[in-house]
Amino acid sequence: MEEQLHPATATQTYVTVILPLAVPKTFTYEVPEPLVPEVDFGKRVEVEFGKAKRYSALILEVTNTPPEAYQPKLLLSVIDESPIVNETQVRLWRWIADYYLCTLGEVMNAALPANLKLSSETILSLSPLFGQDFSDLNDQEYLIAEALTIQKEITIDDVRGILQRKTVYPLIRRMLDKRILYLKEDLKQKYKPKTIGCVRLQDPYASQPKLLEEAFAKLSRSTRQVEALMAYVQISRGLDHVRKQDVYDKAGVDSTVLRALEKKGIFELYEHEVSRIGGYEETTIEASTLSDQQTQAMAAIRAGFEDNKPVLLHGVTGSGKTRVYIELIQEAIDRGEQVLYLLPEIALTTQIVSRLERVFGDDITVYHSRLNNNERVELWNSVLNGKPVLLGARSALFLPFSKLGLIVVDEEHDPSFKQYDPNPRYNARDAAVFLAHLHGAKVILGTATPSLESFSNTKKDKYRLVEMPERFGGLQLPEIRIVDAKQELKERKLQSHFTSVLIDALKTTLEQGQQAILFQNRRGYSPTYRCTTCGWHAECIQCDVSLTYHKYHNNLRCHYCGYQTNLPSACPACGDKKLVIKGFGTEKIEDELKIYLPEARIARMDLDTVRGKHAHARLINDFEEGRTDILVGTQMVTKGLDFEKVAVVGVLSADQLLQFPDFRAGERAFQLMLQVAGRAGRKHKRGQVIIQAFNTTSPVLREVLAGDYPGFFTREMMERNQFQYPPYVRLIRITLKHTKPATVNDGAKLFEKVLKKRLGDWAMGPAVPYVSRIRSYYLLDFMIKVPKDPKKLAYAKASIREATEYLNQAKGLSNVRVSVDVDPY
Ligand code: ADP
Ligand code: ZN
Ligand code: ZN
Repeated sequence: MEEQLHPATATQTYVTVILPLAVPKTFTYEVPEPLVPEVDFGKRVEVEFGKAKRYSALILEVTNTPPEAYQPKLLLSVIDESPIVNETQVRLWRWIADYYLCTLGEVMNAALPANLKLSSETILSLSPLFGQDFSDLNDQEYLIAEALTIQKEITIDDVRGILQRKTVYPLIRRMLDKRILYLKEDLKQKYKPKTIGCVRLQDPYASQPKLLEEAFAKLSRSTRQVEALMAYVQISRGLDHVRKQDVYDKAGVDSTVLRALEKKGIFELYEHEVSRIGGYEETTIEASTLSDQQTQAMAAIRAGFEDNKPVLLHGVTGSGKTRVYIELIQEAIDRGEQVLYLLPEIALTTQIVSRLERVFGDDITVYHSRLNNNERVELWNSVLNGKPVLLGARSALFLPFSKLGLIVVDEEHDPSFKQYDPNPRYNARDAAVFLAHLHGAKVILGTATPSLESFSNTKKDKYRLVEMPERFGGLQLPEIRIVDAKQELKERKLQSHFTSVLIDALKTTLEQGQQAILFQNRRGYSPTYRCTTCGWHAECIQCDVSLTYHKYHNNLRCHYCGYQTNLPSACPACGDKKLVIKGFGTEKIEDELKIYLPEARIARMDLDTVRGKHAHARLINDFEEGRTDILVGTQMVTKGLDFEKVAVVGVLSADQLLQFPDFRAGERAFQLMLQVAGRAGRKHKRGQVIIQAFNTTSPVLREVLAGDYPGFFTREMMERNQFQYPPYVRLIRITLKHTKPATVNDGAKLFEKVLKKRLGDWAMGPAVPYVSRIRSYYLLDFMIKVPKDPKKLAYAKASIREATEYLNQAKGLSNVRVSVDVDPY
């Protein structure tokens, strides 16, 4: 007879959880009696899943209904004392998972900072702050700390072994909170806490301030010590920590005096750990008065908000959009609301941050990719506790806002708001609009060059359009010239990549003590290594792309997978030694420019030169301070920079921007050219923009020349309509991958069958993508064009899920990987 271990009662409690994995469904676990009072929405729990693997999962629901399809396992422990996420966050996750066709677990993984994600493999180390003082630790904490002084790193699984117990997550969580343990950081980002020297009173003075009179009496013979103590008493009012420096400054004493007071049992000197986030220490300034144009824009924006519409602020570069955001942020703060300000990542290290800090000081927090794990959790908690303004790149969307009142999406057209890989492949601008809707918050999208999507939303009155066509202070927009490089070639005036017009303009600029920016597109022309005899060129061994030559390292690298190799001295194909570097990147341009302008101080800004933590800021600073004359760069130079002395901006090759094989090439080219042009002539003089092109007949060039956004919009929309591209339809790209070409081919055939049966000619493919092999995986693409109708979109997504399941169940094809990208461009 079978023994009943768990007699089913009506009051049995279960929890439904999100596992941090790409499993399609949520899972239900049974809650053991002693844990029932602890379970709650938004807390993490320790569970077993699969073959005895442990995960920290998140409670979505507490229920009395058991799952129907399986016997639930027991919950192992409850990790948190209070919820770490709120309901609104999870609603955003659900929307992202549903819209972008991925799992809730994948969204959760992207949303939570590392310290809030624990798994068996998580590596722990001892905090550098912890020192050797074991006296406050309980027995279990002691054992772990001891193990960690011997071995520098242990995994959570090791902890289980050390403690001889199965459930350790709650303990680990407490030790992380207390900063005894740290998660192992990437090697390059070792955590060094920032501390400041502070001073406080020792007992009994600390707890009984009345006794301080005695202390003063004791010191009466040493005036300097009396002054130091007086200074301390005055400074310390209402402060948690008093800096030694402040006491030095106020009392005019130095460290010997404080140390003497420490010896006498009055002061205690200690190091106080401070956050690297926030902590703005300069004094803030009043925002300037709004211009007429800004005042009118504010009125129009308020009207849009009253009608509950997202507002698209279309203002030319230099029109003063930032000042408008400042006004809106101030109003939100005054209402006691939180503000999320989204920016492309690279713009987060530039002037925009300091402009906002100057006005809002400590109310602003910046969330960028260079924060380490501990700073991330700190920041997470500060948002949870109501920090007013959060400035961040796309993933800032996931922070635990509770009373969000305003979202600003600055540079809304920027492609970096889209996450391409891995899941969730979301667009932060679009998700922000949904997030605002969840909070009942206002949302403003701002740019000088709106995306076609956003602008066409204003035509349908889904968004409200507000325009600022004039530069602030009546400044003129730069003069744009298109220079025919083909003509110059014919006349033998073209020198390498530079037209005589550009070189002359640069010379004049330098003579007048002004500066210039040269823009070279990142895509396309990267330098490759070729054999002039047989035509062989160096290719990646794992991907179907040419390797790029890097002069600084003098080697060849793959930009897709990071593979690198040395330069072969002879051609591997024909053995000849006539190998050359072809094509031009920013590095090459920098070198050649030095030949034509030997006096110029030239700097380069691209992915290679901004790798270090402060490299980007330093490049910008050098340029701002006039230590460089010419800045050569990629896309990066277009983002949120505002320099006073830039007289000339050069676009080296418009052809390159326009010829890219993608339906958005024209839109991107238009945006990039106008954005770089906007860097010219900001304060005193009209700037000049020189665009070099071999083919000068493209309509986009004409529209750039005239700064004609409406013309560009109308023509581009006509083309999109004709060829059925967004914003007229939705695109979904599906990529199948496998390491064996035959397997991915078979998989694609099967996939195609299901897809075409359900979707007919909405489905196109399979096709070999532009780069057909990445990291040794062979790829095949399908593209789905779905009419703009929510029901049809849902139907298309259901069909994709069905085809994927069908493929996963097919014999021999179950490990063909399928990735789906909704709105892939
Ligand atoms: P955008 O973001 O639209 O390109 P900015 O906000 O950078 O424009 O403004 C351009 C310039 O005008 C900046 O130098 C800014 O300091 C200045 N500016 C804008 N609005 C004001 C104002 N109301 N008072 C004083 N200066 C302003
Ligand atoms: Zn050869
Ligand atoms: Zn590669």
